[in-house]
Parts: sequence; structure tokens; C-alpha cells
Amino acid sequence: MLPVVALVGRPNVGKSTLFNRLTNTRDALVADFPGLTRDRKYGPAKFENRGFIVVDTGGITGDEEGIDAAMAEQSLLAIDEADVVLFLVDARAGLTPDDIGIAEHLRKQDKAMYLVANKVDGIDGDSETADFFKLGFAEVLQIAAAHGRGVSQMMTHVLTPLEKTFPDMQIVEEERDEEEDADAKLARLQASPIKLAIVGKPNVGKSTLINRILGEERVVVYDQPGTTRDSIFIPMQRDDREYILIDTAGVRKRKKVSETVEKFSIVKTLQAIEESNVVLLVIDAREGVTDQDLSLLGFVLNSGRSLVLAVNKWDGLETHIKESIKRELDRRLGFVDFARLHFISALHGTGVGHLFESVQEAYKSATVRITTSVLTQIMEMAQNDHNPPLIHGRRVKMKYAHAGGYNPPVIVIHGNQLKDLPDSYKRYLMNYYRKALKTMGTPIRVEFKEGA
Ligand code: GDP
Ligand code: GDP
Repeated sequence: MLPVVALVGRPNVGKSTLFNRLTNTRDALVADFPGLTRDRKYGPAKFENRGFIVVDTGGITGDEEGIDAAMAEQSLLAIDEADVVLFLVDARAGLTPDDIGIAEHLRKQDKAMYLVANKVDGIDGDSETADFFKLGFAEVLQIAAAHGRGVSQMMTHVLTPLEKTFPDMQIVEEERDEEEDADAKLARLQASPIKLAIVGKPNVGKSTLINRILGEERVVVYDQPGTTRDSIFIPMQRDDREYILIDTAGVRKRKKVSETVEKFSIVKTLQAIEESNVVLLVIDAREGVTDQDLSLLGFVLNSGRSLVLAVNKWDGLETHIKESIKRELDRRLGFVDFARLHFISALHGTGVGHLFESVQEAYKSATVRITTSVLTQIMEMAQNDHNPPLIHGRRVKMKYAHAGGYNPPVIVIHGNQLKDLPDSYKRYLMNYYRKALKTMGTPIRVEFKEGA
């Protein structure tokens, strides 16, 4: 589990600037869920070697009415799901009545909170932020989000106390595993049940699908303690294989199917993806591919998990409608060509059984041992078919390759001047490996290491 850090504050204090800074790895993907979540943005973030999820709650003032009140409620929900709240104020604007209103809201929450005075660049931080002590916080952290000043100290301060509760937040992948370490992890993966997360936006049919998979007699409806952000883990067996379904829809938690929308939580979905080995992303045939689907897909791709796509509600559609849906899927999802696409009806059960063939295949692809000699051979074939470009008049030299991890498979190539390889050649190598290894359902990562 990764901790969740929520950014709260009135508009214009610099929340999105800080959000962008915290999620600013090159491949960060940000989910914007219009409608359901208003202005909230979610992103996986990394600070030094620690991973977390950051939520920009949009603006609240503490004094809303009408539509603003609804938005404020969304922000409060985000606060509710967070482990830590960063309450941002504007050091240049000074203390405002809205800041006081928000502080009152926050005081009612039982959360770890920090008061952060932003925009201290070019002003005397200590004297200009003294007034904020009136808000009743023990300290006022000073930052300039736009320039990065103070952000690092602040994050160390905020994240360090979380390490006890969230041991998984430590990211230890900068130095790639040697082959033996990768093997040890692989053995563990192969012996474990497949953790299958069923994700999708509200109303795509996740609960119906889970009920269908479990068979009605297995579904016990009861109230399980926990918050909205907890997924339910359901052990099950199918074709002699053990699975743990990660239920983000709360099938076993709620009394009525109609309780879906308020139970949907992006944080929960992100956590479920992180926890899983394989993600089953459910899309609604009747709505086509929406921005929300693409946001979720982005998170899955970012996570490196194996992926199976299910287009649900494929029942009762006319042929020409089906054709046009397929064309749209091709156009919008063509870039995830490693994942199998299934057309199913969770309601009638059509196609549901076949999903598991793809889930197994995806897991197998992600956890099949690949030896150094095979990986090196493929690398040499790729190099023969298409030489790396000359850089500064010298040819980049790839020497050998070994496995550096699984689920997703990581291929580490050693050689000289590899950092100069153009992205196009890296993509070529990745695709070459995918074809040669016949992987299906999992992305592959290719990494480069200077020297022998
Ligand atoms: P939000 O509404 O809270 O998300 O605020 P934004 O991140 O959109 O920032 C509001 C304005 O403050 C923008 O014009 C930013 O460029 C500016 N801003 C954000 N951080 C800083 C900072 O550290 N220093 C200064 N001087 N301006 C900043
Ligand atoms: P969730 O929010 O993703 O858990 O979605 P639900 O499982 O609660 O389903 C939302 C609505 O879609 C319900 O009214 C279901 O009966 C309906 N539904 C789910 N699967 C199918 C399907 O395969 N075909 C049709 N026609 N309706 C479906």
C-alpha cells in the first residue's frame, strides 16, 4: 500500500504547481476525473526513494454554497481518503479569512496535517509567514513550489513518519537486481496466487462481473469494516489455479447494487492496481472509450502490471453498432497492443470464462524465467537486423543482457555509451524482445547499464 498525500487550500495558493512538481517524473500520468470528482487530480508520485499517491483536491474556501458546496464536499472526501494533508497557504497574500475557514474544517478531521506556506521566493520567509501561526499549527513549513525551494525538506518531514505504517513505499529499483535476485523474486511470484484487480469506472459492471465469476452461492453480502478506500480481497480457485480477486467495487461490502457511485474511489483503484499482478480493466461498450477509461489505463501502464481488457455489456447490440464500437476501440486503444481484448456480457455470463485464459497467459508471460543466454541472443539478433546508430562517430556497443525483474519482465542490457541510444532504438529493442519472447498481456521494460 502506498500512502496518500492530499493537497488542500484555497484557489491560487499553488496546489497544482506543487502537484506537478511531485508527480514530475517523465512518465507520470495524471487522472482527471471530470464530473464525478470535479477538479480532483490524482497522480503517482515519487520523492527520493519513496512512492506515494498525491491528490490535488481543487480549491476549497471553507465557506461554500451551491455548486461550490458540492465541490467542497468532494475535497473533503479526498481529505477523508488521505493519510496526510498538506494545507497550503500563500505567503505573499498573507493570512486570509478563507484560510481560517479551511483550518476550521481541517481541525475536525483526525489526520496528520502540515501547514505549508508557499511562494516564499523573494520575500523574508520567517517574518512574512509569522501570521500563519494563528491557524494553530505547531510549525509553518516554508516552500516555493514553483522553484522547488524547501520542497525536499518538506517531503522528508512529511514522508518519514509514514514509513512505519507503509513499508511498501520504499522503492528499491534504481539499481537493477542481479539475475540471482530476480530469480528469488520470481520463485515467490510463481508460488503465489494470482492477484487479479478488477477495475473500471463506476457502472461499467464490475460488481456484476465479480458476482458472475464467484457464482451466486459464494457471494456473502456483509458489512466489512474499513473505509471507502479499502478494496476487498477474495480468494478463489479456478482451473486448479489460485487467485485473489481484488474487488474495488465493494461487492461483498454493500447491501444494494445501487450504492456504486459513492463507493467508487480513485485512490482505492490505484491501490488495487499497485497490489495486483494482473489488472482486468472493464470498459462499457455502450459508452465507448471515455477519458476516465484512458486515465485508468494510464495508471495501469505506468504500474507495469499485466493487463487484460474487457468490453462489457456486449449483449443485445446490433451488428453495425458492434462494428462501430470495434473501430473506435481500435482507434483509441490500438497503442496497448500487448493486451488481449475480450467482449463480454457480465450480465449473461457470455465470454467471462475466456477472460481467465488471458489472465493466466498474461501472468505467465510476466513470470516466465528468461535466461541470460536467451536474452543476450535476442539482443544480438536485434543488433544484427538493425545496428544501433553511430554516436559521435562511434557505434554504441551492447554486450549482454540479463533479467532484472519480473511482473513486468525487466531486461537489463549492458554495454558502452548506452545512454546515448535514441528512444526510437530503445523502442525497437523492446518490440523485438516482445516478439521474440512471444509475451502477451504484459509490458516489458528494457533498461540500460553502462559497462560490463
Ligand atoms: P492552485 O489554484 O492552488 O492550484 O494554484 P496554482 O498552482 O495554479 O498557482 C497559482 C499561481 O501561483 C500561479 O500563477 C503560479 O505560477 C503561482 N505560484 C505557484 N507557486 C509559486 C511559488 O512558489 N512562487 C511564486 N512566486 N508563485 C507561485
Ligand atoms: P459497477 O459500478 O462497475 O460495479 O457496475 P455494476 O455491476 O453495479 O453494474 C452497473 C449496471 O450495469 C447495473 O445496472 C448492471 O445490471 C448493468 N450491467 C452490468 N453488466 C452488464 C452487462 O453485461 N450487460 C448489460 N446489458 N448490463 C450490465
